[in-house]
Amino acid sequence: MAEYEYETHDYDCVVVGAGGAGLRATLGMAEQGLRTACISKVFPTRSHTVAAQGGIAASLGNMGPDSWQWHMYDTVKGSDWLGDTDAMEYLAREAPKAVYELEHYGVPFSRTEEGKIYQRPFGGHTTEFGEGPAVQRTCAAADRTGHAILHTLYGQSLKQKAEFYIEYFAIDLIMSDDGVCTGVVCWKLDDGTMHVFNAKMVVLATGGYGRAYFSATSAHTCTGDGGGMAARAGLPMQDMEFVQFHPTGIYGSGCLITEGARGEGGYLTNSEGERFMERYAPNYKDLAPRDYVSRCMTMEIREGRGVGAGKDHIHLNLNHLPKEALAERLPGISESAKIFAGVDVNKEPIPVLPTVHYNMGGIPTNYFGEVLHPTKDNPNAVVPGLMAVGEAGCASVHGANRLGSNSLIDLVVFGRAAAIRAGTVVDRDAAIPATHKPSVDKAFDRFDKLRHANGANPTADLRLEMQKAMQEDAAVFRTDKTLKEGVEKMTSITGKMDDIHVTDRSLVWNTDLMETLELGNLMPNALATIVSAEARKESRGAHAHEDYATRDDKNWRVHTISHVDGAKVTLSHRPVITKPLSTEKEGGIDLKRIAPKVRTF
Ligand SMILES: Cc1cc2nc3c(=O)[nH]c(=O)nc-3n(C[C@H](O)[C@H](O)[C@H](O)COP(=O)(O)OP(=O)(O)OC[C@H]3O[C@@H](n4cnc5c(N)ncnc54)[C@H](O)[C@@H]3O)c2cc1C
Repeated sequence: MAEYEYETHDYDCVVVGAGGAGLRATLGMAEQGLRTACISKVFPTRSHTVAAQGGIAASLGNMGPDSWQWHMYDTVKGSDWLGDTDAMEYLAREAPKAVYELEHYGVPFSRTEEGKIYQRPFGGHTTEFGEGPAVQRTCAAADRTGHAILHTLYGQSLKQKAEFYIEYFAIDLIMSDDGVCTGVVCWKLDDGTMHVFNAKMVVLATGGYGRAYFSATSAHTCTGDGGGMAARAGLPMQDMEFVQFHPTGIYGSGCLITEGARGEGGYLTNSEGERFMERYAPNYKDLAPRDYVSRCMTMEIREGRGVGAGKDHIHLNLNHLPKEALAERLPGISESAKIFAGVDVNKEPIPVLPTVHYNMGGIPTNYFGEVLHPTKDNPNAVVPGLMAVGEAGCASVHGANRLGSNSLIDLVVFGRAAAIRAGTVVDRDAAIPATHKPSVDKAFDRFDKLRHANGANPTADLRLEMQKAMQEDAAVFRTDKTLKEGVEKMTSITGKMDDIHVTDRSLVWNTDLMETLELGNLMPNALATIVSAEARKESRGAHAHEDYATRDDKNWRVHTISHVDGAKVTLSHRPVITKPLSTEKEGGIDLKRIAPKVRTF
């Protein structure tokens, strides 16, 4: 058994992750006087949320009529009827409150002439339950909204005396014998010491796993560590087959050009200079939801109408927009286009390609943020002591496809919800749970095995193999053949983790070991993705299956639940929650409005 000395820390709540979701939960918990620690492998304001450009959706109605019911309808339709209705109602209802709170905490939103929060149009956001015109619902701080939110939440959390453990890498959850989460084991990256955090409530806010793919808009830190920790604790992941491709990643680098660029009037063209989205989506045009625009772009390229020497990408045009508008509303992406594509947006189109952007799937939770471990008798059974929020979680408000600007609002609505829930379920007077030693030993054993791994596969090689397999076989369009091959490849690649090679054996700033731990987390996420995709015999949202072109509500309006153990995935299902929180009589939504129908644009 590996012997590591460790320091012990006791808290009411421990939040792993300091992105938008983690910080909003931390702030809410600390505000209520709960002793709260926030652990992050990077400096909080370097979390991927900092890169969010376009904005945050809420039906403030600052630019024209809007209502939370319309926002809910768009989210239900965007999810291709796979989201949980209670959670989607909660999201749309609480969104304005959560945004005004951000404003009062100090987020420097862009303003309208009258001084209200500026809102821009984003894909799939409409009025009158999809029957009215597009609405400007996305609140923005220029094209640096995530940056503004993250800095504000970090400052506010410090003010509330939340305690930060920065550059601490969470290795594994501590689970008691009776399945209660009682803490987390961490490695401090800059001095190599080990730390055990005991807590009454642990919150996983570790972000997505975009880096399972070769080309992604996500930061290199987006390695699905929460999903990896959950899988090793015997907990499931949900709806992992649904991976969002953003239509406008810069060709070559994958760097994101926000959908806000099309919101501000930008449009896509093919090699014939045609605004082809008008043909595919006569109503929504360039602002159709992301899954659909990505598929249309892929079809244009497949049919030989791609641009460039290889006819393998598409043009995004902004050069017709006034120079001042670009400078005021889209300064960040103008800079990115210059740096990453050598393009002056005032003069030339930006070369773009659909790029992996967001994970709809994650650790299943209810709308309080509590982690679910579905059983036969109770599909909504809760894991005591554990919550998951943000992209790491799956509340499930995005279902099979997320609408643009619905993630930032998910972070703050459910980060806030988790804090409110912790305020009621965490017993302040109870003792902090004692360290469950067998769980800690198990975490150190795995850590030590990887630290001394002397096999045949260097981490970087194995990671590349995984990224290429995922990019090829779990792509925008999928077939039985590619998915079957993908499952075989990913099973074999996961097996190679047992024969991995780590060169650096030290404990201080050992990035080789850290990347190996991250790869160990990416693997179960990637494997669950391809196995659930292979199993789902229909097309829904981001899962476009060429052998099953239509949605099959009779057999497949269910969440996929995957338990990953090494290279083995066991699949089961959890029913979609179709009951809203309130009926029309109680001021809620008319159920007929959100009954499943074919998703048209
Ligand atoms: C380029 C880009 C632009 C986007 N633009 C928008 C937008 O305009 N609107 C919108 O709604 N959505 C947008 N999104 C999506 C949205 O930004 C993300 O889904 C969201 O920021 C994720 O936030 P999070 O808090 O869940 O995780 P992150 O912000 O990714 O933070 C994860 C945190 O977990 C910590 N962590 C992870 N693993 C460990 C570990 N093992 N130990 C310790 N700490 C750990 C990290 O240090 C970090 O603090 C964008 C995404 C990208 C990539």
